[in-house]
Amino acid sequence: MVYRKSAVYCIVVLLIVCLAVPVYSQDSGAKTITAAELNTHLTFIASDELKGRNTPSPELKIAAKYLATVVESYGFKPLMPDGTFFQKIPIYYVNVSETGTNLTVKSSSGAQSFSFPEDFSASTRSNGFFSGEVVFVGFGLSAPDLDWDDYSNINVYGKVVIMLGGQLPPDHPLNTRENLRLISRRSNVAQERGAIAVLTVQSPPEEEGMIEANENFPNRESTVYGDFNPENAAFFSGNVRHNVAAALLDCDEDAVADMFEQISRGERIPGKSFTGKTAEIVVESHIIGVDQTQNVVAVIEGSDPVLKNEYVVYGAHYDHLGVRNQQVYNGADDDGSGTVALLEIAQAFYVDRPRRSIIINWHTGEEKGLVGARYFTSNPPVPLEKISAQINMDMIGRNDPETVFVIGPGRISTELDGITRDMNNKHIKMNLDYKYDAPDDPNRYYNRSDHYMYAQWGIPIVFLFTDVHEDYHRVTDTIDKIDFSKMERIAKLAYYIGFEVAGKDELLKLDADPNITVRGKLYTPSQRIR
Ligand SMILES: [Zn+2]
Repeated sequence: MVYRKSAVYCIVVLLIVCLAVPVYSQDSGAKTITAAELNTHLTFIASDELKGRNTPSPELKIAAKYLATVVESYGFKPLMPDGTFFQKIPIYYVNVSETGTNLTVKSSSGAQSFSFPEDFSASTRSNGFFSGEVVFVGFGLSAPDLDWDDYSNINVYGKVVIMLGGQLPPDHPLNTRENLRLISRRSNVAQERGAIAVLTVQSPPEEEGMIEANENFPNRESTVYGDFNPENAAFFSGNVRHNVAAALLDCDEDAVADMFEQISRGERIPGKSFTGKTAEIVVESHIIGVDQTQNVVAVIEGSDPVLKNEYVVYGAHYDHLGVRNQQVYNGADDDGSGTVALLEIAQAFYVDRPRRSIIINWHTGEEKGLVGARYFTSNPPVPLEKISAQINMDMIGRNDPETVFVIGPGRISTELDGITRDMNNKHIKMNLDYKYDAPDDPNRYYNRSDHYMYAQWGIPIVFLFTDVHEDYHRVTDTIDKIDFSKMERIAKLAYYIGFEVAGKDELLKLDADPNITVRGKLYTPSQRIR
């Protein structure tokens, strides 16, 4: 009796202990991540038959289908509201209308009209109507410390700024490598000072070249990835020919040529406001074709009835550069490696389930400018404030077998940095190299892959990376050079980090940067998708 009683007691205590402190095993999941399976998946993803996975291309769609099919076999479900694994992203081919685009110079003596693309250049980016008083800023350089300021007595706010292209003499003190940026950013400076448009007068050699070849400015079709914003752009920037400059500056074309002579001698030309004279620019862009591409997005539900509504997001980009000059860019490392690592990580989460849900997101169009990640974060299928962290892998299969570069985990959350180091110490024991995480590192990898789009919205990220190499963005980035056992260890590290984050009582604290304290708020304005 006594014996039985204590046995029941023991069982009850055990049950209470089990319920109160659930044991989250991670190791059986980790065991399913193997070099051999990574190799199998990459053999398909980096094959010549997928033609370099260009965005968009039929072969990229085949890759997407493969990823969705395999991840579904690991118990993952579609995340998109239409019940598919595919987050569709529109692609627009856009052109500047030659009939709907023009420039008019108006003054008390009348109006003069100029046409596109004969007299001035425009891009689809500057779609809209721009009108303002004309103001001339000479070479348009603002470098008061270096004794050159074309803005000293000129207010350009709300105005149409005219500046000269051309070049200072090679031996001019401003014409150095260090000052290159000052010179190349002249148009931006005008915008920052409130100009609504900048018309840059092209240099005499450019002008003569166009006359000799009997050419107009190029009217290039541009590709817009994601939502095309047909609203007016806030700023116009274009080049003009010398006939337009003469009309704007109340002079003849010889006088324009003389000003360029002065610039080439390193002489400053005083600015001037043209009161009562306005320039009006109309740019009309047209959509001339549409297409689409897709992120592949899958979710597996967490084990906790409440926390399953929060997420850890894994990412890699499954696109690459396509075919160029009849050569396939296989992109085995970039980012075939991260792409197939996500499949193995999905399989691991099928075996061991953490408390929060896990989203696997294969981004499209990274090579076109982080298209997929930008679209996902601006059109998120789950609230961004429910994403505890994002883990990105882009190129994890090359170089020193013991070293993985870690970028970003401590920038928004010290907790994520701690977890990254802990998981490595406990389970993987690779050499974590933080050299690329230095805020002043010139490579700026923190800003250069998909994770940055998440970080912009206040989501802590960790980026695992094994560095570039001589085959980076070359046809020689092929599967035979991949170190699969290294990849296996990095995929396991990523799995353990995500498992740990997904099992925490709370979302990771945003405690590392006093400026970043809320998830789901845009901290760095996202550029338009292009
Ligand atoms: Zn990449």
